[in-house]
Amino acid sequence: MLDSVLPTRAQTFLASFEAALSTKDVEAVVEHFSEECYWRDLVAFTWNIKTMEGRAQVRDMLTSCLENVAPRNWRVVDEKAPLERDGITEAWISFETALASGYGFIRLRDGKLWTLLTTMAELKGYEEASGFTRPLGAQHGVNEGGKTWKELRDDECERLGTTVQPYTVIIGGGQAGIALGARLRQLRVPTIVVETNERAGDSWRKRYKSLCLHDPVWYDHLPYIDFPSNWPVFSPKDKIADWLEMYTKVMELNYWSNSTAKQARYDETGEEWSVVVDRNGDEVTLRPKHLVFATGMSGKPNVPKFKGFDTFAGEQHHSSRHPGPDPYKGKKVVVIGSNNSAHDICAALYEAGVDVTMVQRSGTTVVRSDTLMSIVFRDLYSEQAVQAGVTAAKADLIAASTPYGLLAQVQKPLWDRIRAIDARFYEDLERAGFQLDFGPDETGLAMKYLRRGSGYYIDVGASQLVIDGRIRLVAGQVEEITPSGVVLDNGRELSADVIVYATGYGSMNGWVADLVSQEVADKVGKVWGFGSATQKDPGPWEGEQRNMWRPTQQDGLWFHGGNLQQSRFYSHYLALQLKARYEGILTPVYGLQPSYHRC
Ligand SMILES: Cc1cc2nc3c(=O)[nH]c(=O)nc-3n(C[C@H](O)[C@H](O)[C@H](O)COP(=O)(O)OP(=O)(O)OC[C@H]3O[C@@H](n4cnc5c(N)ncnc54)[C@H](O)[C@@H]3O)c2cc1C
Repeated sequence: MLDSVLPTRAQTFLASFEAALSTKDVEAVVEHFSEECYWRDLVAFTWNIKTMEGRAQVRDMLTSCLENVAPRNWRVVDEKAPLERDGITEAWISFETALASGYGFIRLRDGKLWTLLTTMAELKGYEEASGFTRPLGAQHGVNEGGKTWKELRDDECERLGTTVQPYTVIIGGGQAGIALGARLRQLRVPTIVVETNERAGDSWRKRYKSLCLHDPVWYDHLPYIDFPSNWPVFSPKDKIADWLEMYTKVMELNYWSNSTAKQARYDETGEEWSVVVDRNGDEVTLRPKHLVFATGMSGKPNVPKFKGFDTFAGEQHHSSRHPGPDPYKGKKVVVIGSNNSAHDICAALYEAGVDVTMVQRSGTTVVRSDTLMSIVFRDLYSEQAVQAGVTAAKADLIAASTPYGLLAQVQKPLWDRIRAIDARFYEDLERAGFQLDFGPDETGLAMKYLRRGSGYYIDVGASQLVIDGRIRLVAGQVEEITPSGVVLDNGRELSADVIVYATGYGSMNGWVADLVSQEVADKVGKVWGFGSATQKDPGPWEGEQRNMWRPTQQDGLWFHGGNLQQSRFYSHYLALQLKARYEGILTPVYGLQPSYHRC
């Protein structure tokens, strides 16, 4: 990181901020914040992921944390001068605490902090071995009886989980488990990733065959190894699966495939989990100190219990089990649902000449992929952004610097623009009977994703098929499944040979109920959403994703997941939290979230 200190408004402000912090005068520090202010901290001050909103919350956090954190050396960094726009001064900053180096971003309004992002970059004394400190690999000189890299690696694989216990077990070896596994490996925290499937990448491989990522390549990099510059913009699912498999191997993960975690119990006295794993048919009990659920927020299929479900004479399956169109030629397929999976599956069925009907049960946010790329992704995650020096790491921090409390007002104008640009397209869709919905406050897809993780389609072609009536569209609620099809609440009957339930996924703590206990799942509460008091994201306001990447009400229990960007970015902060505990560093958590909603 370049360290060209600039004599700017931001630097003058930081000098004054640092002076107040160094005297530990909380009121003087609070004076540096506007009345309306947001301090988002990723682990550096709070050992938590937490946003303090307003001066009172900032004051409370500082009163609790300032003494221990001992922040200092605040600097404006970066090769570019801080920006001034619309009366806001923006600047990248670095700082140190007693334990860590930190990096962040400030926005000053009228000379005071409007938003402050502080993130932990590295723990002092436990920096990752890279660049000048990378491992030598070879053993030069005379090494009688010395072992090769391969022999050492084989020894490690044999010992870990048998004679040596891992410090952390990650249940689920999809992209989230793999990204966290890679970070913990670099931080030298002994970790096993437990995965039911035979091969890393199978959670993508096993999805419907037409699936390509809906997010572009610049958004999708894994930690440490970027996709090459000739990688396609939208990765086909089997290609991303192969990348994950390659990555797991070269990043030297201790990855147990063909291994299913069947049960986990926490011993409060020994502060240790016992995790029963079926490994290739053998039962193994692991005893880690920390257990991470990386089982996927799109992993636990949600199949509604419709009346008459068991009477259906044809084939029925959840979208996650849908193989693609080939077996269904000449058949009638009804797809229940109208979000991403439903559209992708319907389009592939139509292209294969299958008679297909989509049942829309509620409004869906639709956005054309091209428009989404140019309006939402372009500044941060695009070739143009790369050319302008906005790396994925930088883009992630810029994105993180907008607190959840301001996101809706940032998103709304973008969605107003999208709706204006594609007004004709939206009119056509509505004319075809499609129920459009841009969220309760018209803030579009990103807010729906963060609030509820569902309710949208990024259009890569299926919408035109709906407009043209080539994918038949029917609105209504499912009243009943009969031996021959689906009956809707308006009395309409749809005959079907095959029913696909594109009905989404359940909350991640459903996995905790299955593997640990209902009691622990209830204690931890809902996972995902941040208390926006909108559909599927009940209040009260929490201001951060519930239970994700940060301490929960259950000691030693963590959740990790989300899309590829979130897996990349937040695995860093979760890994640092685990590393600190592994090294016996005190990690007093400020503002542990209460649990309001049962599993
Ligand atoms: C159709 C679809 C399209 C998507 N498109 C995109 C996109 O374009 N871009 C994007 O970033 N995201 C996308 N997502 C969202 C998200 O990135 C994916 O769902 C992704 O697979 C999530 O990764 P994960 O590692 O959190 O979970 P998963 O990939 O679901 O992995 C969880 C793993 O846990 C394993 N597991 C579960 N229980 C156990 C157990 N008891 N023991 C051992 N293993 C267990 C499972 O076998 C699975 O492999 C999409 C999701 C879907 C469903």
